[in-house]
Amino acid sequence: MRIAYRPCYPTVIAVVLVSAIAASAADQTVVLKAARMFDGKSKSLIPNGVVVVQGDKIVDVGSNLAGPAGAKMIDLGDATLSPGFMDAHTHLTLDFSGDFNKRRLEQLDLNVSEQAIKAVGYARTTVEAGFTTVRDVGSRFVSSREFVDVALRNAINKGVIVGPRMLVATKGIGATGGHFDPTGGFRDFLFGREPDYTDGIANGPDEIRKAVRFEVKNGADVIKAAVSGGVLSLADEVDTPQFTPAEMTALVDESHRLRKKVAVHCHGDQAAREAIEAGVDSIEHGSFMKPETVALMKKKGTFLTPTLMAAEYIVGKIESYPPALQAKARAAYNARSQMFRNALKMGVKVSFGTDAAVFPHGQNAKEFALMTGLGMAPIDALKAATSNDAELLGISEKVGTLEKGKVADIVAVPGDPMTDITATERVSFVMKEGKVIRNGPPTAQTAGASADDPNSAAPVD
Ligand SMILES: [Zn+2]
Repeated sequence: MRIAYRPCYPTVIAVVLVSAIAASAADQTVVLKAARMFDGKSKSLIPNGVVVVQGDKIVDVGSNLAGPAGAKMIDLGDATLSPGFMDAHTHLTLDFSGDFNKRRLEQLDLNVSEQAIKAVGYARTTVEAGFTTVRDVGSRFVSSREFVDVALRNAINKGVIVGPRMLVATKGIGATGGHFDPTGGFRDFLFGREPDYTDGIANGPDEIRKAVRFEVKNGADVIKAAVSGGVLSLADEVDTPQFTPAEMTALVDESHRLRKKVAVHCHGDQAAREAIEAGVDSIEHGSFMKPETVALMKKKGTFLTPTLMAAEYIVGKIESYPPALQAKARAAYNARSQMFRNALKMGVKVSFGTDAAVFPHGQNAKEFALMTGLGMAPIDALKAATSNDAELLGISEKVGTLEKGKVADIVAVPGDPMTDITATERVSFVMKEGKVIRNGPPTAQTAGASADDPNSAAPVD
């Protein structure tokens, strides 16, 4: 009997060992502990926050919880745990933060593959700043058909590179000569052809439907459109409408039929009113919206993504922009504070979005202090960047709160963000899908990865 069984032992032991190792790698339990916790939805912070993570999921959350025996403990001390931050308005494949004129010239000889390699750094910088999810609303390169945002999203999902979860819009959709026309401001026919739906440029309801279908075909998770003029474009006025109501209706209908949300770049009041009536999911910027239009948003449940950082950054170095853009930037900047206060007063749903790329990537959290500076309660600013964004992006089932069963996207900031909201700019711990991305200072290579980089592409803001 002994002789008969003996050869089996090593095999049995090996099988048991291998499965034990596999189980521990996949289901390693980690207990995160900090002096405070923001759970993404409560009206105040919870003292002595504890989050228990197993694999990529949160398995328990509470105050003063004792973690299971044998779990790995990460005690973050005098810090505040929060759901990973989200930014509903980024352009991770681009960087407009350098000199405007230099960039405009350099985009003509920029190799798009080179820009894609730079974007890998922007993605890492962003997630290391605590932004574990972004909605990336426009990635275009004049006279190029590349979908760099789709490639970036896929590479992150496959674990090839480190970055935030991305919902991408591909090129975005706009009118001929409008804010998204990549040839706007260049002499006619410089690029050999007028841009068409394959560049996101569409006119008339049918062509807009075609552009939506083309972008979804190529990997868009969300549809972005420019329905009014913009700041960083040379051939349009900042507040004029760029789509007719019939075009906006087609845009929203076709996107919603394909189960995609619609985010519209819009500064002007008339365009905003028509877009809200057409049923868009969010107004991006919204600078010149009158109180009646803001009230309409409240009634329809439309989100406002204020992107306060964008105008703030541009106005901070206004002399470096061409005079026409300076005037547009000043006008938008002067109008937006009252508009934002009106939105707060009326209880409009506010999402957190920054327009990262207009300013160097990784500075997204500066938006928090701008929001509270205009009267938003710090806890509401944190909600905007977590549960509100999750709702707008349609991913609340998965992320946005610290709750049992949610994906473990968790960050920590030093101290108490209710007394100093700028603590969000000093994120000290980042976990995405249960994996620790950083616990301590950011990696050296990411610091300044996008600082005033002049190389970029056509304007999207
Ligand atoms: Zn933008």
